[in-house]
Formats: sequence, structure tokens, C-alpha cells
Amino acid sequence: MNTHFDAIIIGAGAAGLTAGIYLSRAKVNTLILNEGAVGGQMVLTHEIANYPGVQNISGYELARTMKLQAQNFGCTIRSNIKITSLELDGKIKKVTVNNKDEFTANAVIISTGGKSRMVGAEREEKFKGKGISYCATCDGDFFQDKEIIVVGGGNSALEEAVSLTKYASKVTIVHQFDHFQALEHYVDEAKNNKKINFIMESKLIEFIGDEKLESVKIQNQSTGNITEMKIDGVFIFIGYVPNTESLLNVVELNKWNEIIVNKDMKINIDGVFAAGDSIQKRYRQVTTAVADGTIAALSASEYLNNLKKEIQEEELVQ
Ligand SMILES: Cc1cc2nc3c(=O)[nH]c(=O)nc-3n(C[C@H](O)[C@H](O)[C@H](O)COP(=O)(O)OP(=O)(O)OC[C@H]3O[C@@H](n4cnc5c(N)ncnc54)[C@H](O)[C@@H]3O)c2cc1C
Repeated sequence: MNTHFDAIIIGAGAAGLTAGIYLSRAKVNTLILNEGAVGGQMVLTHEIANYPGVQNISGYELARTMKLQAQNFGCTIRSNIKITSLELDGKIKKVTVNNKDEFTANAVIISTGGKSRMVGAEREEKFKGKGISYCATCDGDFFQDKEIIVVGGGNSALEEAVSLTKYASKVTIVHQFDHFQALEHYVDEAKNNKKINFIMESKLIEFIGDEKLESVKIQNQSTGNITEMKIDGVFIFIGYVPNTESLLNVVELNKWNEIIVNKDMKINIDGVFAAGDSIQKRYRQVTTAVADGTIAALSASEYLNNLKKEIQEEELVQ
């Protein structure tokens, strides 16, 4: 396998695959390296109903189509690998995979995505996308006239609980403390909403159901009492973790460990760009990841063209 590429993309979610489509179509020799299965968070999504131009599609199918599109333009994809070393300074960037295979490139796009923080209750993994959601914008609509729980006590939890009352017939906010961490106006808005109830000082400890979520067990933190509650869905808003642990001393991150980018998706190192859920931003959707991936690819393409010209001029002088 060729080991030098014009561009290497790290992460094959919506952002990375989009960057792969744009770069390969522009005849930029591109390699995508991905930890785990191709598609990222899209493959965890049972149904995507807000991707423009597509009425309804499973996340798996959307990811599969994006992957094929990138490959058809000539993009090389290696998945289920582990990046063990990353050298981004200088004109040639070096990425080592599985402690042995070395790949080089003139430009790198980082699109490692992220994950919502989980509550850590029993069978949470099993019911992800089958009753448990981490995104009101994505899934709120599936809970029309249903009863749901919102977990969390910060701004996002209270803001999203209010927005979910557009769909749900009843929203119960479950929070581990006896007070909220959210701004006062979010708390007031939630308290004044007749569809919203509160269970304070309590944690979800178990999700129950056959194929779909049917009920949850809730434990009161001061008494230890456990109750079971029938429920159609649970939305969890207790924070977000970008997949940037391996980049800690390599690229500039903000205090939430999100990658700092400028409007062209460029980071603090020449020839390195970032896109998608791992960058600092407020809204995390397939559409926003796709947009970031497009911008990062176009910026990387321009960088590579300028680099080529620079090298040609240097050769003329010699
Ligand atoms: C359950 C669920 C439902 C959702 N529903 C919707 C919806 O209906 N509509 C919508 O618009 N959005 C939805 N979203 C959000 C949307 O899926 C994401 O915002 C979007 O897919 C993010 O894409 P990304 O490419 O930035 O990151 P990711 O999808 O997270 O992809 C990142 C990729 O990088 C890989 N990676 C991570 N670290 C490394 C590393 N060190 N080296 C190599 N590879 C690495 C990961 O394995 C992954 O494949 C949902 C999210 C979830 C979890």
C-alpha cells in the first residue's frame, strides 16, 4: 500500500467522510484512518429524519452511502485501526498506526467526533436509539404525545426539556441534586411549564424493556428508595465529551477539550484542519458535521495548491 498521501483524514464520521468526498473528487490523494467502524455516531442512529433531501434514512445507510461515495472518487479508507503516534509539525505530517504502519501527508484533517456523556445505568448501551436519546433536535419528533424523562440539571437539560414539551404529553426532569445548575430563567421557564414535573435528588439506575425501552428504575439519593416508572423515552443531557484525549498535547484545545479552529477550520498548526463534533461549537448535527467537513476539505485543498506552487517556485530558483 502507498504510504504517502496528499491528505490524511483522521476519523470517518459524517465530517471525515464528507472531507474525503470533496478531496478525492478534487483529485487530492486522500487516506481516511478510522478507529472503529466507519460512520461514527451516524451508525448509532436508528432513523435520521432531518438530513435535507432525504425523507427518512437509517444512520447506517447514510454512513454506508457516504463511504461508497468517497471510495468511488478514489479515497482510501482504513478502519478499525489505532493511531499510536501523530507528528503534525513541519510540511510532512506523520501518522503511525497500530505501532507499526507509518503514513505521511502534506495536510491533515482531524474529525474524531465525540460522544454524549452517559448516565451509567444498567442497559443504557442496549437502549441507545431505542428509547434513549441524547439529542432533542434529532429525536424529539418521535415522541409526539408520549411520556418522557429528561436527565440533567444544567442549561441544556432545562432548555431541551421545555423544547420537548412541543411533542411530549408529559416531561419529567430527573436530577441528581436538590437544586439546578442552570441559569435562573431556564429554571423558571421549566417550572412554569404545566407539562413538566420534577424528581430531584435522584438517579436513573436501570433501563428496562424487551426490544424498546418500557420503564426505568430511579433511586432517591438521600433515602436509597428505588421506584420503577413506565416511560416511552429518556433524553440525557449531562454533558458532551469530544474524542480528543489523544490530541491533548498535540493540538490547541479549549477548556472543554474541543479543538480550536478558525472560520476556515484551520487549527494552530500549518496544514492541519479540524471538522465536526470534535471542534468548539454549539450545535452538533450531521448537517453541521457535513458543513465543517466541506469547509475543512476546501481549505486543505487550497493549502495543498499553495504548497505545490511554493515547491515549484523553489525548484525554479535552484
Ligand atoms: C444516538 C444519536 C442520534 C443522533 N441523531 C441525529 C439525527 O437524527 N440527526 C442529526 O443531524 N444528528 C444526529 N446525531 C448527531 C450526529 O450523529 C453527529 O453530530 C455527527 O454524526 C457527528 O459527526 P462527526 O463526523 O463529527 O463525528 P463522529 O460521528 O463522532 O465520527 C468520528 C469518527 O472518528 C473516529 N475516531 C475517534 N477518535 C479517533 C482517533 N483517535 N483516531 C481515528 N479515528 C477516531 C470515531 O470512531 C468515529 O468513527 C445523533 C447522535 C447520536 C449519538
